[in-house]
Amino acid sequence: MSIPNARPINSTMMQVPLSLNHLLERAGRLFPTSEIVSRLPDKSYRRHSYAAFYQRARQLAQALLSLGLRPGERVATLCWNHHAHLECYFGIPAAGGVMHTLNLRLSPDEIAWIANDAQDRILVVDDVLLPLYRQVASKYQFEKVIVFAFSGATVDASFTDYDALLAQSDPSRFDYVSHHEEDAVSMCYTSGTTGRPKGVVYSHRSTILHTLVACLGDFWGLRGTDVVLPVTPMFHANSWGIPYGAVMMGVKLVFPGPHLHPDDLLDLMQTEPPTLALGVPTIWMGLIQAFEAAQTAQPGRWSLPVGMRSLVGGAAVPESLIRAFHKHGIWILQGWGMTETSPVCTISYPKAELQGSTMDERYRRAAMAGVPVPLVDLRIRSEDGADAPWDGIRVGEIQVQGPFITGSYHQLPISDEKFSADGWLRTGDVASVDPLGFVRITDRTKDLIKSGGEWISSVDLENALMAHPDVAEAAVIAIPDEKWSERPLACVVLKPGKSTPPARLSAHLLEHSFAKWQLPERYEFIQAIPRTSTGKFYKLKLREMFPA
Ligand code: ADP
Repeated sequence: MSIPNARPINSTMMQVPLSLNHLLERAGRLFPTSEIVSRLPDKSYRRHSYAAFYQRARQLAQALLSLGLRPGERVATLCWNHHAHLECYFGIPAAGGVMHTLNLRLSPDEIAWIANDAQDRILVVDDVLLPLYRQVASKYQFEKVIVFAFSGATVDASFTDYDALLAQSDPSRFDYVSHHEEDAVSMCYTSGTTGRPKGVVYSHRSTILHTLVACLGDFWGLRGTDVVLPVTPMFHANSWGIPYGAVMMGVKLVFPGPHLHPDDLLDLMQTEPPTLALGVPTIWMGLIQAFEAAQTAQPGRWSLPVGMRSLVGGAAVPESLIRAFHKHGIWILQGWGMTETSPVCTISYPKAELQGSTMDERYRRAAMAGVPVPLVDLRIRSEDGADAPWDGIRVGEIQVQGPFITGSYHQLPISDEKFSADGWLRTGDVASVDPLGFVRITDRTKDLIKSGGEWISSVDLENALMAHPDVAEAAVIAIPDEKWSERPLACVVLKPGKSTPPARLSAHLLEHSFAKWQLPERYEFIQAIPRTSTGKFYKLKLREMFPA
């Protein structure tokens, strides 16, 4: 029944800004005994309670204010994953500043360029990274440099000592700098794999909404009893947002520090067994190889944390990797996203419709990018500009829109190349979506191989090659071809002691339902696939190595 002339009614809800400060206060009050473990440069462990984290984050905020930090000014970090970096995640925004995580794997020139573009005023840097800092400093001058004595060594008097600075400030005197929920809290740059790095600036609001969505049961499913190991660097899309989720739920955090070698991660897993770990596929490929090799060479050296959920994203996750981990009781949850999208946009989880499906079907789904998370609108734009139907067949560019997706880049005009005329982010990723809503990424636009007018997916070829028992890693690129325009070239790393000929790999691909014309034109057997600064396969480098 409709009521004639019913007047519009205003909501009676409070207008309280979404804020990271709320998460910090909540953590201090509710989870004082939760633990934060950091692996130090000498591989020993340092333990902190959340009570200490709360106090130190507020001390940092107070110290930054006493250094004259003004709202919206950038405070850069050049740090590994550890407790002090977490303090920056909350302390810098609490002072009204914007935390800008610098990628320590970039060259000094690139870091200086990015720091200058962001106009970083203050820098927090690990003492073990001072050699890198000194190279950056000859190109970009920070006004103030705060050194965190990560190694435990005394900080040179020419710098400000992070711990001494905190010790001088009284957190009970601290008052949060007031803000709007749209105010900036942090900033990351795209890695520049496909162009100049571009700044993405996140707000209190976008960060809180992203955290809430990512933590939902079907996705990260974060529980207070979890032990979280973020292998994803804290400079890579804010470690995918897990530090915020962890603090929101008061979970135990285990930071690996600079020790990301598979042996070190396996050692860490023995002392501090995680229930949830995050990292790009190459991390897990290295880890499973080291683990399986040790099973024969040194049985009993390591065990894997059975029941652990592993969040893997940043690049396509091969089905063979998912199967390999599941054999040891670990489930891989794949996510897709970008620095521009906070980053979580889709997650592959067993939807209700898949209850009762075979394990093969579940693996197949887990190897897809997954289903869009709430608050993210996703469409597939075909080359003709129309929306492709969600039939699992038709491919096009993924375009997304939502409250934690960037609508522009720092100090850059809005370009047609990055945003559609109606304001959607153009991701540059090519995919199809099936009727259940599962996104299947075929490639980045720039990595697709166009052969005789047909597209060949490099991702599909890589995944099938990595399913061969002799193959450790594989990456496929396009090489120019007079007749076909482009043809696939497969760069393959064989497992130790293997000498599998190309013909055998091609036969394996034919068995995996590739057509003859899709098979790699050439194979190059190499020692290792070059990595980007965030640990993904670096196809640009491969294209330079094999120009034709
Ligand atoms: P970059 O790769 O340039 O360092 P990002 O970390 O922001 O920067 O990477 C975003 C890109 O990573 C996406 O556009 C996509 O190409 C790729 N990516 C992320 N997750 C996945 C995934 N699950 N499957 C395939 N590609 C992915």
